[in-house]
Amino acid sequence: MKPVMALVGRPNVGKSTLFNRLTKSRDAIVADFAGLTRDRHYGNAKHGKHEFIVIDTGGFEPTAESGIYMEMAKQTRQAVAEADVVIFVVDARGGLSAQDYDIAKYLRKLGKPTVLTANKAEGMTEGVQLTEFYELGLGEVHAISAAHGQGIRSLVEEALAPL
Ligand code: GDP
Ligand code: MG
Repeated sequence: MKPVMALVGRPNVGKSTLFNRLTKSRDAIVADFAGLTRDRHYGNAKHGKHEFIVIDTGGFEPTAESGIYMEMAKQTRQAVAEADVVIFVVDARGGLSAQDYDIAKYLRKLGKPTVLTANKAEGMTEGVQLTEFYELGLGEVHAISAAHGQGIRSLVEEALAPL
């Protein structure tokens, strides 16, 4: 059985861009609009010796009753339940939001292996702008740029080597 990696995080942090980078596909819709991906997406990924399945989240089709945040929470829960390891993506440029704290709290309680990943970190001096993310209580912050393909190999290694 291939390990399963779930990408979770609030809208617009770059989950689908990372999904595309990991799967080298165009399966996940990437757009300049938050929440355009229609559904959870599954993709196959192979990096070095690691073969794994990636789940993108963010298919928010909020109904009048549920709303966008409830739908997001539902998708996140489903993906995380299926996953062996969770990549929790935050925005290195946008900083922390209330939603980040909510997701972090949920992931801490769950206790699944989680790699806290600050995306959009291209050209940033690591350690300086990323210190605030330690407040999430999920340990080390892993800086990447999904769009520029930086930090991806070591992210995969960090996420999958312990499994
Ligand atoms: P999602 O809503 O979390 O799936 O985010 P998307 O993957 O759709 O990306 C949201 C926006 O962030 C898009 O405009 C992307 O081009 C942009 N983005 C994604 N990754 C990076 C990155 O590494 N650096 C920068 N600067 N922008 C990025
Ligand atoms: Mg998306």
